[in-house]
Order: sequence, then structure tokens, then C-alpha cells
Amino acid sequence: MADARIIHHDSDELIPISALTQYAYCPRRCALIHIEQIWEENRFTAEGRIMHEHVHEEGDESRGDVRIERGVALRSLKLGLTGKADVVEYHRQPDGSWQAFPVEYKRGKPKPDDSDKVQLCAQAMCLEEMLNVSIPAGALFYGKTRRRLDVDFDETLRQETQYVAKKAHELIESGQTPKPVYAKRCESCSLVAECMPRTIQKKRSVESYLKRMLDET
Ligand code: SF4
Repeated sequence: MADARIIHHDSDELIPISALTQYAYCPRRCALIHIEQIWEENRFTAEGRIMHEHVHEEGDESRGDVRIERGVALRSLKLGLTGKADVVEYHRQPDGSWQAFPVEYKRGKPKPDDSDKVQLCAQAMCLEEMLNVSIPAGALFYGKTRRRLDVDFDETLRQETQYVAKKAHELIESGQTPKPVYAKRCESCSLVAECMPRTIQKKRSVESYLKRMLDET
């Protein structure tokens, strides 16, 4: 993996944690949303939004050895991120201390890529910086499977999260939207109509074909 060193950011340089999820899913989607300010809702994004709103509305509570805080504001100057955690659980330890454990709610099922894990790890790294604690694990709750997936914040995932945060910053600061690359992920992307991945890709192949022909003649 490329250089993932941490740089300290000013508070006016922070980008939303969600930009990392978008970048890990597709850099062009990240640019369309955060550079071009384009947003379109589809069934998947609407269901996800409603699920997050519902979780945040439930408020804080205590259940035995677990304290639950919802809609927790997050910030990291190391990663240059700001955002909100759906849920942060605090588990009472045998020595009486409380171990933070972030939980992020997702509408669907576990994805083949690491975008959800990167988002959750970014939340944990924000909490570590804010609370000056160490957070070894958290969980993703998927609405479709109604199951929690435990996520260890190991060194590999932390490096990947730092790398994605750095790349998302570079992309947004560049102001340049990358060209589309059509892939299976486009079928569930809410921005497919604005992005036009197939049309633009086809146009680019025709243009490069014509250029090759002209160069040869
Ligand atoms: S339609 Fe495909 S290429 Fe375009 S932003 Fe969405 S995922 Fe990326």
C-alpha cells in the first residue's frame, strides 16, 4: 500500500467521514458528491438515511454493564475528519473502567469491499484521538441480515483507513473529478444517471480509437 503517514490538519480542512466510504466505493462518486455537490437519493440511500435517523432518535441509555450513546459527534485532526457515530457502546471492564466500542448501522448486507470497515475504523480512530484511549474493536450491524459483524481494528485496517483518508483529502482538494470506470457497483450507485459511466466510457474508447487511427496515418 502507498504512503499512509498521518498529517495534522487544521479544523477548517476537515472532510466528512462519509467521504471515505464514498472514496472506498468509487473515487468518482466521492468527487461527484464532495466536489460537484451532486446528490441523488435512490431506494438504497433512502433506506440507509431513515435507518440512521431512527437510531439517532433513540437517545442514550444504560443496560447493566453497557452504556449506550447515540449520534456521537466525532473529529480527528490527524485524519482530517468530522462526522457522527450511530452508536458508541461503553463496556464495563473487570477493573471498573469503560471500554468504548463503536457500532455503525447499515441497511444492506456485508459488502465485498472494505468501505464499511474503513468508515467504522475511522470512527474508532476519531474516538481514540478525542478520548485519548485505545479501541481494539467495534461492530457493523446490517439491517438485511439483522446481524452484527465484529470488526478488529488491526494494523492493516488502520493503515488502509489512513491511506483512504489521505487519498480522499487529495481528491477533494484537487477539485478534479476522475473519469468513470463502469463496474458492477454502478448498478446500485444512486448517481448513475448523472455519472453516465457507460456513455462516457464508450465515448472515450471511440475518441482513443480515432486518435490511434489518425496517429497511424
Ligand atoms: S455510476 Fe459507477 S463510476 Fe459513476 S460514480 Fe457511481 S459507482 Fe462510480
